[in-house]
Amino acid sequence: MFALSEDMDSLPDVYKLLSEELKGSGAVVLMPDSEGYGASIKRWSEHCEKRARAVVLPTTPSHVSTTLSFIRTHEIPFVVRGGGHSTSGSSSIEDGLVIDLSKMRNVTVDAEARTITAEGGTIWEDVDVEAAKFGLATVGGTVNHTGVGGLTLGGGYGYLSGRYGLTIDNLLAVDIVLASGELVRASKEENADLFWAVRGAGQNFGVVTAFVFKAYPQPDPVFAGTLVFLAEKLPGIVEFANKFHTANDGNQVLLWGFSCPPPLKAPVVLTQIFHNGDEAFAKTFFADLLALGPVVDTTAMVPYEKLNALLNPTAGFDGRKLFGGGAFKLPLSPVFVQALLGDFLDFISERDRMNESLMLFETVPYKKVVQVSNEAMSFSNRGDYYNVATCFKWFDPKLDAEIRDFSRALLKKASQAAGVIQDSAIRSVEGVGTYGNYSESDTPASEIYGSNAKKLAELKHKYDPDNLFSRGMRLVPRPVVVVN
Ligand SMILES: Cc1cc2nc3c(=O)[nH]c(=O)nc-3n(C[C@H](O)[C@H](O)[C@H](O)COP(=O)(O)OP(=O)(O)OC[C@H]3O[C@@H](n4cnc5c(N)ncnc54)[C@H](O)[C@@H]3O)c2cc1C
Repeated sequence: MFALSEDMDSLPDVYKLLSEELKGSGAVVLMPDSEGYGASIKRWSEHCEKRARAVVLPTTPSHVSTTLSFIRTHEIPFVVRGGGHSTSGSSSIEDGLVIDLSKMRNVTVDAEARTITAEGGTIWEDVDVEAAKFGLATVGGTVNHTGVGGLTLGGGYGYLSGRYGLTIDNLLAVDIVLASGELVRASKEENADLFWAVRGAGQNFGVVTAFVFKAYPQPDPVFAGTLVFLAEKLPGIVEFANKFHTANDGNQVLLWGFSCPPPLKAPVVLTQIFHNGDEAFAKTFFADLLALGPVVDTTAMVPYEKLNALLNPTAGFDGRKLFGGGAFKLPLSPVFVQALLGDFLDFISERDRMNESLMLFETVPYKKVVQVSNEAMSFSNRGDYYNVATCFKWFDPKLDAEIRDFSRALLKKASQAAGVIQDSAIRSVEGVGTYGNYSESDTPASEIYGSNAKKLAELKHKYDPDNLFSRGMRLVPRPVVVVN
């Protein structure tokens, strides 16, 4: 299992030392010339692929502890990789070490207690498939190759959120290796302040080696699929979304937005619909949308464990990508959304190979989500609004900066004009209006955590006083790192 470089003398000493320290333990250490190194630095977005000096693949929490102790002693810059899907670059590094959790993907289900325990490197497919064997499910992401780690630690929205809340609302405990190298459990009963911090800002507090989730019976198939409409149908779709806002009972989801996907690369409105129940009810519930005449309709009854795979084909690993997040309220004016579509199309059509970019209005019912206050956990994005996301995809690195600027401006326009007030004075009441998992890592902590940012900084001093975990959202100023 142990993969050492052929030419150890050419490696920086510190990484060679770490290889020796972990030798024979069952952990894999990859160097740039090791077999498998190239695959290990791949990320969902190409611009997040960075040539780390070494990649450690632990298989046990004690490997993580040993690696963190080593990192502390030698002051090595490092990142943690879960599913590798963040577009902020927080799980990759050029001049340092990756702790890659992808060999820690076991899932165990306690059917009687209705809990699911997922190791730190699992992806949602692992969880969905294993839980389904027991007729159970929890709130997971809508693309099943996304990591359980990053998605959960930042909050977590899914098709089941309307019924059961966020992923973190269903998190019962984590096993986490702290900066000190100590493995602890955090839950409502043990290290409750750490558990508060982990649910929204977990990436900043340690390496989570196991997540324990509450599970729910989900024995029956669900109705779901994609409807593609010509862009001229946008006003009708906005009207439908406005009705959906009051008509849903928490068992439906409507994702809708614009893109110019292949093969035609012409503007279309994409919708993804979901109903946790039978087809007859779903067809009646979505009748006004279906009556608009989609040019593509893939809706069908599917087993729950296949649900989060439906969008996988639209979320391939090629190209550079950038997620951005804002918020919108319903009802929306069709004229206003038409203007956003115009801005979006003008930008992507004037630049090369940006047609697969997407602006998505995630109409995931929030009644259940707002039953928990913004003070109950560090997560602060609960309010009377929905998330709107941009996911830009491009290939030319020269476009990076202008895409970032445009994404921010478009989301600001969508959020402000749609009535979500981005004002720090009301944040603790209404939520910040920005989902941390869609944000870049240089976003100020107050924009993601609102009035919880202060308590997070205090807890950071308690649990990670040297700010070892400094690559995700910046809760305290970054340390100056010595590169060996
Ligand atoms: C195609 C796609 C679909 C998505 N769909 C959804 C969705 O339906 N719902 C939703 O809420 N979000 C969704 N997201 C956003 C998603 O939540 C974030 O991109 C998230 O960061 C992905 O987590 P990851 O583990 O794959 O990423 P990574 O890049 O591996 O990690 C992200 C951050 O979490 C840290 N991290 C990961 N695992 C651990 C761990 N075990 N311990 C400590 N730190 C860890 C990393 O260090 C990094 O800072 C989607 C993203 C993509 C790309």
